[in-house]
Amino acid sequence: MLIKIFISCEVIQMTDGKVLIVEDEAPIRKLIAFNLQRSNFEVLEASDGKAALDLIKDIPPTLVILDLMLPDMDGFEICTKMREIHPILPIIILSARGQDMDKITGLEIGADDYIVKPFNPLELVARVRTVLRRITPNNQPIHHDRHEIGPFLLDVKTQRVYKSEKLLKLTAREFQLMKLFFEKVNEPITRNSLLDLIWGVNYFGDPKTVDVHIRRLREKIEDDPSRPTYLKTLWGYGYCFQENESTT
Ligand code: CA
Repeated sequence: MLIKIFISCEVIQMTDGKVLIVEDEAPIRKLIAFNLQRSNFEVLEASDGKAALDLIKDIPPTLVILDLMLPDMDGFEICTKMREIHPILPIIILSARGQDMDKITGLEIGADDYIVKPFNPLELVARVRTVLRRITPNNQPIHHDRHEIGPFLLDVKTQRVYKSEKLLKLTAREFQLMKLFFEKVNEPITRNSLLDLIWGVNYFGDPKTVDVHIRRLREKIEDDPSRPTYLKTLWGYGYCFQENESTT
């Protein structure tokens, strides 16, 4: 069921983005909506998975806040379906403590961040801004819209990556990784640097998080992910994205 669409009048000219809140518990949803609107975000609300998927069908919001426990659909399933429609849609998971934490902390669902209930609404707004900053960075060395490296084409404007003209279905985080690799092509990067640059210096996860994402990225960009020719592992150090696949 679609609940309501809020558009704050004073910010109609220039909001910081449109956030879809998917949460069946109305008080929590309202609390998040209130804080986001106060921070200059436009807000869409949905109380179940079907309403959420209907809302994003045509035009993606800037970001989705997704509760895992919904009446009609599992949050993981919604996350997957949303990514099928909009591959790089930023998603922040809301979960009760202990709820499928292994899956979440392992980032197996491809969400960009997660917040454990109960949470501080102001921290949630801050996390929304952090995710959006990562996704639309202002001061990155890559300024032009389209860049080609080997068979890959990275389009900054649409946040898409193509390999041999075929669109790769990357998550927001995977796009960030590819963009960084484009900026540092042929340069060895440590796992800790990747963690700081992509996840932020305050991220509490360990470098294995990087490995999980690299493994998934390889499945999308390499011809044979078990024998990567572009995204090389430098044992005991980190990774290197190589321009020329024949280079070892
Ligand atoms: Ca819930």
